[in-house]
Amino acid sequence: MEKCNICSHEYPEATLKKMVQIMDRKAYLSFICPSCQSIVMHNPNYYYLIEPKKS
Ligand SMILES: [Zn+2]
Repeated sequence: MEKCNICSHEYPEATLKKMVQIMDRKAYLSFICPSCQSIVMHNPNYYYLIEPKKS
């Protein structure tokens, strides 16, 4: 279980989207739950983190 960085509720890791928040030229990894993703999508400081697929 991981905490959503916006609402602080706990979710299974697969449910949370990994996003990167850019502040002062630093990139912070955030876990965002499905209900908070719509909020974050309108925030230009957040970016989706794309990880290479494991084969
Ligand atoms: Zn949330």
